[in-house]
Amino acid sequence: MSNGEQRVVIVGAGLSGLKTAEELRRAGFDGEIVLLGEENHLPYDRPPLSKDVVRGERDDTTLKPAEFFADKKIELQLGAAAAGVDTADKTVKLVDGSEVSFDQLIIATGLTPRRLPGLPELTGVHVLRSLNDSLTLRAELEPGKRALIVGAGFIGCELAASFRTTGVDVLLVEPQPTPLASVLGEQVGRLVARMHRDEGVDLRCGTGLKTLVGDDSGRVTTAVLSDDTEIKVDVVVLGVGSVPVTEWLKDSGIELAEPSQGGGVLADEVGRTNVEGVWAVGDVASWLHSTGSQKRVEHWSNAGDQAKLLAKAFTGVESSGPAAVPYFWSDQYDIKIQALGTPLASDTVHLVEDDGRKFLAYYSRDGVLTGVVGGGLPAKVMKTRAKLTVESPIGELLGS
Ligand SMILES: Cc1cc2nc3c(=O)[nH]c(=O)nc-3n(C[C@H](O)[C@H](O)[C@H](O)COP(=O)(O)OP(=O)(O)OC[C@H]3O[C@@H](n4cnc5c(N)ncnc54)[C@H](O)[C@@H]3O)c2cc1C
Repeated sequence: MSNGEQRVVIVGAGLSGLKTAEELRRAGFDGEIVLLGEENHLPYDRPPLSKDVVRGERDDTTLKPAEFFADKKIELQLGAAAAGVDTADKTVKLVDGSEVSFDQLIIATGLTPRRLPGLPELTGVHVLRSLNDSLTLRAELEPGKRALIVGAGFIGCELAASFRTTGVDVLLVEPQPTPLASVLGEQVGRLVARMHRDEGVDLRCGTGLKTLVGDDSGRVTTAVLSDDTEIKVDVVVLGVGSVPVTEWLKDSGIELAEPSQGGGVLADEVGRTNVEGVWAVGDVASWLHSTGSQKRVEHWSNAGDQAKLLAKAFTGVESSGPAAVPYFWSDQYDIKIQALGTPLASDTVHLVEDDGRKFLAYYSRDGVLTGVVGGGLPAKVMKTRAKLTVESPIGELLGS
């Protein structure tokens, strides 16, 4: 199929924007591709930001060199932030006032960290999403410094591990009963809590942050926790989740999911939005899932899986082969936590292995295996992949 006359504009030069451009070429799209990125860096990988980069072991996580874009005839514009879109005129408006016209638009603007309302503006208080965030944070870390991490989700837990590895004292507060409780449930969350405590993290669950206090120079010095405890701190990181970057779509007519449903751009099972010729992919996109519900997924593998499906639908190439089994991972100390399938915190958790640090858990719903989560047991996790491509009764796996 020749689409040489078509101009596709992808807004967001992160992992999903890049992968979608790449998959469009792979699927035979030979029209123009313009990739607009707000940041001034070549598209880069985010997982190392809370790991090797913040620990000072690596600076560069560029995904593809500049030549790649020339070879694939992808026009990459950096420092080009979209401020709005006119779907009738088919133009994206940039912050500098210029316009870029499109035949098809792909939204890949990812997420931005959530802030806690009511906190004073102080230096020494960080969030983590971008390479610049990670480099700024790492410049503040030194052995013996006292860090408060607010939120024991994936970013908070990974930072706690990276900080401890570099000799920083860590207080990790989490309002829920365990780390990762809303993603993996409390049973596995307790194992993650144990690992962090074994590594010297002062983990306080059921505790939040009330406010922060600074000195005369405006630098944070003290954290007041929800139980009114006052703690001296040198650095604070807010790891309290992220929200989809959709402000720039205001008044565009492109439908968004309700914030209570996770927000994001509503799309079907291949990324088409309610507006003809407009698509959404990656962390910002709320796709229709086989269960019939809309869902946003904030994991690395999902970006590539969605980019493939979108590119095939876009170019009219038949999708073939089994659907990818969803996967994500999180590196904390020497342990790689891996999840295959669609485990939910509300599933029944069957802990089948636990040696005090490494563990393996099966997740089931209505008697059927939904996911496998392992800590430090990659071969055992991967062995269950085939079981997740079919309906596997949990009883058979457990041998009962
Ligand atoms: C610190 C960190 C660690 C992570 N670790 C893991 C991990 O271990 N395992 C895992 O599975 N997943 C991990 N993830 C998640 C994974 O990195 C994301 O799922 C992935 O980056 C999503 O890609 P994306 O392109 O959808 O969004 P992003 O990577 O956020 O890219 C969106 C891009 O759009 C740009 N943009 C935003 N607004 C505009 C605009 N108006 N105009 C132009 N450009 C714009 C942004 O600058 C950004 O570059 C991690 C994420 C972070 C932040």
